[in-house]
Amino acid sequence: MLLSFIIPCYNEEEVLNMLYKRLNKVSKLIDNYDIEFIFINDGSKDKTEEIIEEFIKNDNRIKLLSFSRNFGHQAAVSCGIHYTNSDLAVIIDADLQDPPEIIPDMIKMYEETKCPIIYGKRISRDGETFFKKITATLFYRTINLLSEVQFPVDTGDFRLIDKNVIETYKSFEESPKYIRGLISWMGFEQKPFEYHREARAAGGTKYTLKKMLMLAITGIMSFSTKPLKISLYLGIIAIISALIFSIRVFYLYLFQPNLLVRGWASTIIIILFIGGIQLISLSIISEYLGNMFNEVKKRPEYIIKKKIF
Ligand code: UDP
Ligand code: MG
Repeated sequence: MLLSFIIPCYNEEEVLNMLYKRLNKVSKLIDNYDIEFIFINDGSKDKTEEIIEEFIKNDNRIKLLSFSRNFGHQAAVSCGIHYTNSDLAVIIDADLQDPPEIIPDMIKMYEETKCPIIYGKRISRDGETFFKKITATLFYRTINLLSEVQFPVDTGDFRLIDKNVIETYKSFEESPKYIRGLISWMGFEQKPFEYHREARAAGGTKYTLKKMLMLAITGIMSFSTKPLKISLYLGIIAIISALIFSIRVFYLYLFQPNLLVRGWASTIIIILFIGGIQLISLSIISEYLGNMFNEVKKRPEYIIKKKIF
């Protein structure tokens, strides 16, 4: 039986030694599985690749897939799943925010329950900004509100998945991918494993605000078409407000013409209101259209520059 660790890395030179030490220690506690560590170097500009190659010299359990440029965290995890042939896989961040020491217990839970997905559920998050926590909390709840499928909240990609999930995942062709959503969407039973999310071991977050926003948009758009209907609701609101407004103007015209603001203030308000709604609706439609365009092009999700397997 083979267990693989899937570890996406982007500019993680500061944590890699620490990570390897802790993973190695943990791997000694897992005796009924052969182990492989699949590092995906997501186009790092620092020494990430060199450090992993150094590890490989002394440890043949380590594998490396290096991207030609930065394709993003989801693409890196996706690549790891595509390349593994293991019976069990653990997806884990490189920065040690998800403590590897709990993995033996996750495996134990898997073996006792035979539940194909054991996902890490964060009961606390250390060392993260208030902004990160509040946006994450809001995002996980919004996506559940919008989506037809329900996803566990406060859960990243840190999880253990079995062969069936791995192989099912490989059959998904859509891109971009929102991995934790796709795994839920499969419908297999999943159980939470609660843990305290630690602060990053070293370095700063590699998830910029733009990357967070893109992940949120991908997540929502992959699993809901409800935003497309927002334009309908906004349109209705606009029409009703315009009606109320014109009744008022007509009333003033008939009974209090001296109160009526002549000129174009009122017109401008209406134009801005309707214009705003049109632009919002258009941008929502174009987001979906853009995604369809990308999918029609069928470009690969990532490009591998170097592979040590
Ligand atoms: N990561 C990646 N590509 C990116 C951004 C991040 O592979 O473009 C990796 C990163 O190296 C880490 C994981 O994804 O292993 C999570 O990133 P990070 O810890 O920076 O995100 P946060 O925990 O702050 O949300
Ligand atoms: Mg992190």
